[in-house]
Amino acid sequence: MHIPFCLRKCLYCDFYSEGCDDAELRKAYTEALLGEIAHYGHKYGKALKADTIFFGGGTPSLMEPELIDSIIKALRKAFTVSDNAEITMECNPATLTADKLMGYRAAGVNRLSIGSQSFDDEVLAALGRIHKASDIEDTVKAARAAGFDNISLDLMFAVPKQGMDKWRESLEKALSLHPEHLSFYSLEIAEGTPFGKMYQAGTLEETPIEEDRRMYHYALDRIEEAGYVHYEISNACLPGREARHNLKYWNLSDYLGLGPSAHSYIGGERHSNAANLAEYIKVGGVGCIEESYINDLDDDAVEYTFTALRTKDGVSFENFRDKFGQEFWEFHASAKKEFEGFVQGGYAIEDDKHIALTRKGIDISNKIMALFV
Ligand code: SF4
Repeated sequence: MHIPFCLRKCLYCDFYSEGCDDAELRKAYTEALLGEIAHYGHKYGKALKADTIFFGGGTPSLMEPELIDSIIKALRKAFTVSDNAEITMECNPATLTADKLMGYRAAGVNRLSIGSQSFDDEVLAALGRIHKASDIEDTVKAARAAGFDNISLDLMFAVPKQGMDKWRESLEKALSLHPEHLSFYSLEIAEGTPFGKMYQAGTLEETPIEEDRRMYHYALDRIEEAGYVHYEISNACLPGREARHNLKYWNLSDYLGLGPSAHSYIGGERHSNAANLAEYIKVGGVGCIEESYINDLDDDAVEYTFTALRTKDGVSFENFRDKFGQEFWEFHASAKKEFEGFVQGGYAIEDDKHIALTRKGIDISNKIMALFV
């Protein structure tokens, strides 16, 4: 579920969202979302089984708990949502109160992904975030008190004005809050964002790649030392606390994305809704698909290879055979020789069951993944 509202746009963000301080607009949006859920309910019905729901954005935590409750109820009515479904909500620390958190928990949300980014107020200000470091701590405490036992913190490195010391401190602070899950992303300067424009104008410098990689590897060492499993390039968790929802993207499982700008991959078709909130509300959430594309088996096999290589387990030859009816190295015959060069160089591993990237290989993952296009 894409919730396309933000109080203010962060300077680096290129996700679709609109400003929102209007309860009526949130209500109207929910009505439209319920319309889209009902539409797909008619199309797929109970045959569509879901064991994860993800509220992303935007800032889902701007939504009133009653609205989230009505959306979850509608999903359960339209589809087969398992009783123990993982239901995640992304939230911004500046938007939460104890009451709201209890309301979300009562509605069935059982996992929070808290957009923390940094525990340094200067870095947060440089990113254009609306919260302070202390808000993150308060949110985690209030979430625990509301009964959330599955919390993820998002952190960002290679940010202007950050440097290694502040990155280390942020990481320590995050670990001291004992989240079940951590995501850590290097800042990407996206075209069209304020950061993109500052970069073009020469007023914002990219962190040198060597520094970026030093920060990344420092984080991996520290996170693993603290008992977390590094299970995907940018994600680590306490044992057994992988993001079940995100694993689906990396395993090429079906997902249905609802709301403006949401992407879906279902029944072999990729489609995306237009990023236009006003239009979405006007048409009641139905008929907003802007682009669609039917994946053939070759597309699927390539995409699966790509995304599975992001994970610690890499590509399992057995899974590949089950999904695509072909041996992995038969399908990717042209990549074999060069891939073996990467194995010899210590960038990747290969045995008779799977291939995967090593830590050293993650630093040049784009180059290795390009072999499989
Ligand atoms: S809160 Fe999240 S979605 Fe909204 S502008 Fe910031 S990064 Fe983007």
